[in-house]
Amino acid sequence: MRMSQFFLPTLKETPAEAQVVSHRLMLRAGMIRQTSAGIYAWLPLGWRVLQKVAQIVREEQDRAGAQEMLMPTIQSADLWKQSGRYEAYGKEMLRITDRHDREMLYGPTNEEMITDIFKTFVKSYKDLPKNLYHIQWKFRDEIRPRFGLMRGREFLMKDNYSFDLDVEGAKLSYRRMFLAYLRTFARMGIKAIPMRADTGPIGGDLSHEFIILAETGESQVFCDRRWLELDVLAEAPAPDSDLKEFFDRYTSIYAATEEMHDAAKAPADLVTARGIEVGHIFYFGKKYSQPMEAIVAGPDGQPVTVEMGSYGIGVSRVVAAIIEASHDEQGIIWPEPVAPFKLAIVNLKVDDAECSRVCEDLYARLSGAKVEVLYDDRNERPGAKFADMDLIGVPWQLTVGPRGLKAGVVELKRRATGEKFELSVEDALARVMA
Ligand code: ATP
Ligand code: MG
Repeated sequence: MRMSQFFLPTLKETPAEAQVVSHRLMLRAGMIRQTSAGIYAWLPLGWRVLQKVAQIVREEQDRAGAQEMLMPTIQSADLWKQSGRYEAYGKEMLRITDRHDREMLYGPTNEEMITDIFKTFVKSYKDLPKNLYHIQWKFRDEIRPRFGLMRGREFLMKDNYSFDLDVEGAKLSYRRMFLAYLRTFARMGIKAIPMRADTGPIGGDLSHEFIILAETGESQVFCDRRWLELDVLAEAPAPDSDLKEFFDRYTSIYAATEEMHDAAKAPADLVTARGIEVGHIFYFGKKYSQPMEAIVAGPDGQPVTVEMGSYGIGVSRVVAAIIEASHDEQGIIWPEPVAPFKLAIVNLKVDDAECSRVCEDLYARLSGAKVEVLYDDRNERPGAKFADMDLIGVPWQLTVGPRGLKAGVVELKRRATGEKFELSVEDALARVMA
């Protein structure tokens, strides 16, 4: 992408309405535009990151055996009357009446709809287990939308739903998602710690919130310091194994939200921090399958009401949470796996023929090699170019200037650490392509 053509409306001033750093930086970096309270348009830079995050979520869901589909945003109220949640959901639900006076709603979640789809087609234990997911916009009329994407009204969520014949099967589905979630966030370059969560009126003991530690988190959390060292990607439990040993080992390391914290059980080396919830997994048995009659014929021919779980990741909130956890005074520091571009080429003097020739050549070769590269070909002061690049947080910056070229070098800078390397053009290329 050429920066001279890119729709990237960066701001110099800090927007007054933004209270948290992710909101400020997303506005300043030209990633989003608020269109009404708690509702945002994703501009090209932001959209690229959102897609990266969604793709990692997708790959880990697929790896865990879940199958992607897509359900609509608009739902019929009838389904929600069956489950009893139409009234219970209250004012957070955006209710809509169509021209025939039918009651509709903009979905805040999809348990009812997926249960209805499931029961229409699945009639036998032979078709179990099933795990279905989608990545779709949700609407919740939050009483106080705030902190930008962190608590929006319209937001992107990955939600999936597992269906099993019995409790043992449902718990295995839960453990698979537990692993998938740990892997998902680790692959994004962030540490999300699963914390025992309150299961509310539903009861049961299987619910974990995945929490990123960041100063601006909405809630207080507690965890064993060992969590900070764990590297789940180095573990290799096969996703189709029973995962018991893995799950027991991980859940034995203390981590709890404020509601569940028990000082008596906490370890000596306890970390107390603020946290942002980026995911939530839940086993709830027959809560929806019973009222909505999701029943299959069991092995002995007797009817069995299926066991269900649901699992959510706030895909759009994750984008903001990553920024909360990874930024500095100058701007965003994208972890490479979710960065909008891997590399930026900064042309220090576009009216210098040699400088532009080298930049154009680099740009063509990198693009040809499918490296996602942003080329700053604007006729701007170097200082303004560097400030923009640091603000939007591209992991690697390759600076090409007339003086360096005379000495046969370009400068490669790593955004995360500020380290700079003087390299020949060929060495720089080899380095970023590796
Ligand atoms: P919270 O307690 O933060 O309101 P929740 O318990 O209502 O979250 P879930 O229903 O479990 O959330 O939704 C799954 C995920 O969707 C959450 O873990 C969170 O990451 C995300 N999420 C929920 N509400 C919002 C929102 N208003 N804006 C952005 N993301 C959200
Ligand atoms: Mg909520």
